[in-house]
Amino acid sequence: LKALAFADKDNTAVTTDGVQVEVAGNIAKVAEAEKLVAMGGEAVGLLRSEFLYQEQTSAPSEAEQEQAYRQVLTTLGERPLVVRTLDVGGDKPLSYLPLPKEDNPFLGERGIRVGLDKPAVLRQQLRALLKAASAGRLRIMFPMVASLFELKLAKQVLQEEAEKLAIDTSGIEVGIMIEVPSAAVMADLLAEHVDFFSIGTNDLTQYTLAIDRGHPKLAAIADGLHPAVLRLIDITAKAAHAKGKWVGVCGGLAGEKDAVPILVGLGIDELSVSVPSIPEVKHQVRSLSQQACQKVAADAMACADAKAVRELMHAPNTLIA
Ligand code: PEP
Ligand code: MG
Repeated sequence: LKALAFADKDNTAVTTDGVQVEVAGNIAKVAEAEKLVAMGGEAVGLLRSEFLYQEQTSAPSEAEQEQAYRQVLTTLGERPLVVRTLDVGGDKPLSYLPLPKEDNPFLGERGIRVGLDKPAVLRQQLRALLKAASAGRLRIMFPMVASLFELKLAKQVLQEEAEKLAIDTSGIEVGIMIEVPSAAVMADLLAEHVDFFSIGTNDLTQYTLAIDRGHPKLAAIADGLHPAVLRLIDITAKAAHAKGKWVGVCGGLAGEKDAVPILVGLGIDELSVSVPSIPEVKHQVRSLSQQACQKVAADAMACADAKAVRELMHAPNTLIA
């Protein structure tokens, strides 16, 4: 794997028929940026910013946050960095930001809902990001967006903070996670207001199949290759491209061997995977023809369930190379 990482370090991932797929990595710590570069990552497709908040007993200061983002941007150089704003609630609690006790926390105050409900936290994070932006190629992403209303509010908050700081945001791409079925279904309207989408298949699967992603018994059947999830990814990708926007996948599916050909076939522009998986995913993309992948993706979407999709991907006559 080391040799593979070395060989891939400066190379892009292009299919046999010439379609380039950006292979990026997910990180959750400043130090992981260096590893990502060493493994040949072309970007950070998802910086889970929760670490800044979870590693301590009180909220991080604005300066501390700015410093962390600057450090990652500096390490990445020309490579873009997608920072997801704080995504707490559900499976991600925070001791000093108490959220109401809810019967269904996954269906309650999570992600951008918390950000908009407690705007001081979001505003501070956005200020730190805006101040760090000059250090590299920053992209800002909002989590768990379920409606155009939330997206517009979040963008307004960003704009207000930028104006207060007199920072020009024209060079900063702004996008959202697509991880709620309503957002995927309404992606055509959302696409007009973003620079990119990044599909979070972990939550998108959970919400589409109505299976708790951490359920001790059921989580194993919450398979992102379920055709219902694939159809939502297809809708999202088509909606993004119709408006000239790029679309990535940063959920676990992006790094799965069975899923990569389907995602390439659905026209996904960026795969953001765990850092150790970067070389293998690049290697796999180079072995694929997008045209063949399109056919596989169509067949997968016509399957009845995830098991059938897995069987299809392992069938000897499934031509994906
Ligand atoms: C996802 O939901 O797929 C995702 C990438 O976000 P997280 O796993 O951090 O909820
Ligand atoms: Mg998520």
